[in-house]
Amino acid sequence: MIAFGPVPSRRLGRSLGINNIPPKVCTYACVYCQVGKTTRMEVHRARFYDPEEIYRDVGQKVQEAQKKSESVDYLTFVPDGEATLDANLGREIELLKSLGFKIAVITNGALIWRKDVRADLAKADWVSFKIDSTHGNTWRRMNCPQRTLKQKTILRGMVEFANDYSGTLVTETMLVRGLNDSAKSLRKIAVFLNHLQPHKAYLAVPTRPPATKWVRPPSENVLNEAFQIFSQRPFQVEYLIGYEGNAFAFTGDVEQDLLSITAVHPMRQDAVNEFLMRAGADWQIVRKLMAQDLLVEAKYRGKMFIMRKSNVNLSEDQPMEADLSIHI
Ligand code: SF4
Repeated sequence: MIAFGPVPSRRLGRSLGINNIPPKVCTYACVYCQVGKTTRMEVHRARFYDPEEIYRDVGQKVQEAQKKSESVDYLTFVPDGEATLDANLGREIELLKSLGFKIAVITNGALIWRKDVRADLAKADWVSFKIDSTHGNTWRRMNCPQRTLKQKTILRGMVEFANDYSGTLVTETMLVRGLNDSAKSLRKIAVFLNHLQPHKAYLAVPTRPPATKWVRPPSENVLNEAFQIFSQRPFQVEYLIGYEGNAFAFTGDVEQDLLSITAVHPMRQDAVNEFLMRAGADWQIVRKLMAQDLLVEAKYRGKMFIMRKSNVNLSEDQPMEADLSIHI
């Protein structure tokens, strides 16, 4: 299956996924990977599929979606591996552009130091980089990169790409308890992201059974702290903590709206007060959502925040599925 979806994505609206890498060829073997273990660690680009075949497959999926009156906002390269390992990526983007949709690529950025990879990604309208740590040891423990990769070269390549890129650049930072979630580590990531000036910096947590069983998401307090640290920089920050779909929807339904807003960012107590007042509601509704384990309180620098409880489902007996849509 090369093309799948379209699936709802908070970042990209309705996204038709393109799986341009066979399972599971990757430059990394992240401890939290949700599409299974890396079976082929690779840093050399290769031709995996004929670009015309990808074009035909995606074109067919687009037609099927249109027949069912399903809209498509983005064609997204989100393989079960690393998208830029595909030596045909640039050609595929060029071909797919003729279908008239915006093109997105979700990449770990491990090959961004290569000029040809930067040139290929420059053709896309939207690019997401993975930046989990700027500390070499943590990067190695967390992303388990192929042994010849050098983090400094990758980070430099990211900055070089960001300086020239005219599309929308976003970043994604996965937070894992005890690995990259200390205040010091988060501050260092935020300093680096400042060099990239992303359109948005997303904070994610593992929400499905990861490749390594000991992997756990950070506590809500730490998630809140991460948000506050990133927010001190001049770029937008949002959570990706397992609530896609209608996270942006303002329904006029107080409960739904509170859940939608807090799925994206924590709300200070005074902001909640104001919101409830405008909606003609009171704290009873918040207390009810807390009792249902949907909202939690988290303190940061003496201020209380209300935030969505992260949507974690790490039970070990849940089968590991190669559900590519969870990346988007
Ligand atoms: S999370 Fe992404 S980059 Fe990391 S191993 Fe899985 S597919 Fe590769």
